[in-house]
Amino acid sequence: MALRVQLTDQQSAAREEYEAFAREHVAPKAGAWDRDEELPEDFFTTIGAAGYLGAAVPATYGGGSLDAICFGLLNEEIGRACSSVRSLLTVHGMASRAVARWGSAAQREHWLPRLATGAAIGAFALTEPGAGSDVKGLATEARRTADGFVLDGAKRWITFGRRADVYLLFARLDGRETAFLVERTSPGLQVTPVPGILGTRASMLAELELRACQVPAEALLGRPGFGLSAVAADALELGRYSVAWGCVGLSQACLDSSLDYAGEREQFGVPLRDHQLVQRMLADMATGTSAARLLCQQAGWLRDAADPQAVHATWLAKYYSSTTAFRSATDAVQVHGAHGCGAEYPVQRYLRDAKVMEIIEGSTELQQTTIAHTAYHSRRAAAFRPAADRRATGPAERTMTV
Ligand SMILES: Cc1cc2nc3c(=O)[nH]c(=O)nc-3n(C[C@H](O)[C@H](O)[C@H](O)COP(=O)(O)OP(=O)(O)OC[C@H]3O[C@@H](n4cnc5c(N)ncnc54)[C@H](O)[C@@H]3O)c2cc1C
Repeated sequence: MALRVQLTDQQSAAREEYEAFAREHVAPKAGAWDRDEELPEDFFTTIGAAGYLGAAVPATYGGGSLDAICFGLLNEEIGRACSSVRSLLTVHGMASRAVARWGSAAQREHWLPRLATGAAIGAFALTEPGAGSDVKGLATEARRTADGFVLDGAKRWITFGRRADVYLLFARLDGRETAFLVERTSPGLQVTPVPGILGTRASMLAELELRACQVPAEALLGRPGFGLSAVAADALELGRYSVAWGCVGLSQACLDSSLDYAGEREQFGVPLRDHQLVQRMLADMATGTSAARLLCQQAGWLRDAADPQAVHATWLAKYYSSTTAFRSATDAVQVHGAHGCGAEYPVQRYLRDAKVMEIIEGSTELQQTTIAHTAYHSRRAAAFRPAADRRATGPAERTMTV
């Protein structure tokens, strides 16, 4: 069985649909949304009506139940047009998936049809003032009451926190890491916008303050103690996958813009694209984008096959795609010269957005240490296997041995 890089007819048709949606409804407005630092309310209706907010919701609850490749293509095409909108797909998808995977029947019935249409927007609230990369530093406390829980603590940098109706939020219950579904209207929850963020400026970031915040007993999601190891880990896995594909789109956008500009702009009597040092930048963008897309496809293929190596493949994809997007964006600004620094071209936005991609969903350094750690242990495990077993027998073995 060969590694499939060819999309099925259905996946190709889906890609065309996503690309057309992004071209019509997202790309022309992305610059203005970035300046306004928000998405307009009617856009939530538009993207909800297209069905894209239901990508991670099972079909039985009104969602699109997209396969991993289609979900990736959606993130690529939206990410090519606007990283803030792709961020919406990411965090809303993370919250949706958590409810679908860990929710009780009642929680699924209540939330999933709303999340599928965008009638409710979901967000992911894990980071705290003292808990960033090290999520074990989680300090938000939950206490049981007669009819539910009371939460005390703070959450930082919550994407679409300003707009969300429900937060997938993590706290300690009796010292154990636990997931909750906290409604925005919960008494004791204060939502404060975070203006002036470097990139994904339209992703409506907020801080959450929970002061004796009351939530009902039904807010508990999954079992106490499984909040980080199961609920957050699984949601972050999807988030990382979504960001990785979004970075492919972002890198492609850098290439598209640079090719157009280098073809139009002349210096020293020839178009920029005829200068070999400019060609080097275009070549690196084209190669990096293709390689990132292949790593994302590999991760998607393994996810669809429910292969446990999908986790590691997603780390590889996110690490490579985000660093590639940043390099492509830096080169894209360089190719555009002064115009690359101005507001007329989108590449300055791409550069700001790309820097954020190296920080969210596991920073570049966390990806590097995790990938190196896994590679080391794979190598050690291989050394202890009998020689006959060490022969690669299929694409997963060949592609995942690092
Ligand atoms: C635009 C944006 C949107 C976000 N959206 C959300 C959201 O929706 N929900 C949410 O919960 N959070 C969100 N975050 C927070 C994000 O997840 C954190 O920023 C991220 O986890 C890193 O944590 P930190 O910023 O506290 O950095 P720190 O953990 O303090 O790290 C700072 C630096 O030290 C490095 N470092 C840390 N530990 C190590 C190590 N062991 N080895 C090597 N280097 C290390 C990091 O790589 C980084 O370069 C968002 C952040 C941004 C910027």
